[in-house]
Amino acid sequence: MDTTDLQRYITKKALNNGALLVGYTKIRRTEPVIIMGFEYSDKWFFNFPITLTKKLGEVYFISKNVQDMIAKELKREGYITNYKTILSIYGDFRPLVVSAGLGEWGRNGLVVNKKYGSGLLYAAIFTNAPFKTENTLILQTSEKHCTECEECIKSCPANAFENNTFHLYRCMPYALKGCAQCLKVCKGNNC
Ligand code: SF4
Ligand code: SF4
Repeated sequence: MDTTDLQRYITKKALNNGALLVGYTKIRRTEPVIIMGFEYSDKWFFNFPITLTKKLGEVYFISKNVQDMIAKELKREGYITNYKTILSIYGDFRPLVVSAGLGEWGRNGLVVNKKYGSGLLYAAIFTNAPFKTENTLILQTSEKHCTECEECIKSCPANAFENNTFHLYRCMPYALKGCAQCLKVCKGNNC
């Protein structure tokens, strides 16, 4: 299979098996990375921690299955793969998600996708397959949409976004009690 066909095949396979978004970018400008977005919802917090743990487990199972399938396909084609799951605590996927065209930096400090808002969990597959990183093969892309909204800022009970800075110490006491108001109000965050 040539690389373009392989990229299309992988994108469709991921979307058909539970990924909501698939994009391609490069880390350190040279190493290809496949970024995938999976379901997340602030509503999971309502019965925190039982619902959160259960839902995270379900999405982890789906996303891991997708990553395993893609890794197997890439290996069959002779490429190296390595991946980080949605629960990976190493690294910050946000710059990769933005450069893969799956969202923009939001004023809530998260990546905001036009359709899903900030409500996504991301996983990454690193490979040496020479995939294209232009938008030609990305099936969903975002547009600029986070300039005048300010809903996350207005809704925050802790005033954690004062002066365009995120004040973590103000947020934490609320977040630990299950506050996710800034996610809830973010556009498209309805899953
Ligand atoms: S989680 Fe709650 S307290 Fe923290 S930034 Fe979001 S809205 Fe504010
Ligand atoms: S609530 Fe509005 S301003 Fe805040 S991150 Fe979402 S789109 Fe951007």
